[in-house]
This record gives sequence, C-alpha cells and structure tokens, in this order.
Amino acid sequence: MRKTVIAGNWKMNNDLAQSEKLIVELKNLLQNEKPNCDVIVCPPFTSLSEASKLLKGSQIKLGAQNMHFEENGAFTGEISASMLKSVGCEYVILGHSERRAIFGESDEMINKKIKKALAAGLKPIFCVGELLEERETGITNDVIKKQVLLGLAGITEAEMKNIIIAYEPVWAIGTGKTASPAQAQEVHEFIRDLIEIDYSLEIANDVTIQYGGSVKPDNAKELLSQKDIDGALVGGACLKADSFIGIIKGA
Ligand code: PEP
Repeated sequence: MRKTVIAGNWKMNNDLAQSEKLIVELKNLLQNEKPNCDVIVCPPFTSLSEASKLLKGSQIKLGAQNMHFEENGAFTGEISASMLKSVGCEYVILGHSERRAIFGESDEMINKKIKKALAAGLKPIFCVGELLEERETGITNDVIKKQVLLGLAGITEAEMKNIIIAYEPVWAIGTGKTASPAQAQEVHEFIRDLIEIDYSLEIANDVTIQYGGSVKPDNAKELLSQKDIDGALVGGACLKADSFIGIIKGA
C-alpha cells in the first residue's frame, strides 16, 4: 500500500524564531495524535539546521524547498544536495511551479536535480502542473505528460521508490481556487497511468501522488478520499499550526 504524505511548503516565510515557534507548536499538537500519514515540513534554508534539531525524535520529517544539481563550486547563492543532507533533510521539493515560472527552471534542469537528489540520498517531491490557459485550451494531459516524462528521464525503477510526485495545477496555487476532487483525480489517474506505461503496474501502484493547490482543512478530506490522491503539498495553510494539523487530520 502506498503512503499518504502531507507536506508543508513554507516558501519564503518564517525567520529562525518564527520557524522554531511553528515547529514547537506542530510538535505539541501532533504529540497525542497518531497521524494516518507521513508528515513533512519544508522550512526555508536558514531554518533547516535548527528545525532538524527540534524535530529529532518527533514524527515530523524535514524537507528543503530547492537545491542545485551540481555537487559544489562557483554557484553563488546555491545550495547542494549534500549540504541539505548534512543538516538533516530527508526530502526536497523540486520543480515547484514558482521555480519554473520565476526562476526559469526547465524540465531538463529539474531532471538533473532529481538525479542529484537521489544520488545524495534525498527523496524528491517532484512537482508538475498546468497553467490556467493550458487547461482552458484542453492541453492539460500533454503538459503533464511532457513534465513527467522529461523530469523522470533516466530514473530507474529502484529510484522511483524514493520519489513522490505532486500534481499542482498552477491556477490553484495560492489563489484560493482548488481543483475539484474530480478534476484532481482525473489528472492523478493520468499520471499513475503514465508511470505504469513507463515503469510497471507495481511502481505505479506504489508511487505517492500528492495534490497541491489551496488545500485547507475544509477541503482536504474530500480531495484525499479520491482513489489516486495520496496526500497533499500545502502552501498557505501550512503556516499556521492548527490549519496544517487540520489537513493532517483530514488524511
Ligand atoms: C504550493 O505552493 O505548493 C501550494 C500548493 O500553495 P497553496 O497551498 O498556498 O496553494
């Protein structure tokens, strides 16, 4: 059975003190719960080291929001996979639509990052999703297929076991507009079929496919009850401990 995974992408929010406060609140609220899912938080780089210390022994795992595909060198401002490992990260979000749109990340760059992350022992949360105009012109599946196939080019069956895919329709991110459970389910099923064709039925059945895009406590349960939706990648609603815990309870 594949795992349900709820991950919080803090984006460029929370300085060190704010990060510590949120992690302590999450730990306290989760202390007496037995969540029916894996829980990941992805704070900004500057909070990772401290977050890792605070999360030791808790049921919350640590992820980063991005990394470079090179090992080290003259890449001013960048962070490598091994640096993330060294501060205790287990996961890394790659190919987020904000990285694609604002920072010009191509499918090829994302593919290099996925390979590097896996080689360093990090588990990528690989994001794909269509723009509103792409949905409106009926090319959602073409866009998703291209992103999935190029992003996963050269990734082996064994490596697929350490990858989470996140379907995040760009028009639903930070907009308050959520894909309907049926719209999301349709694309999740399409992605799972792609994985079956490219890999195997077993890999397709095992891969966790999260939904992301304005997930909140009040819509999480219905989205997560869809057959092919195995969790959520949460932006805005993960910045308050009670709303993130509300989503975890929805799982
Ligand atoms: C995200 O940034 O991955 C995201 C899903 O954001 P939000 O939940 O705010 O739409």
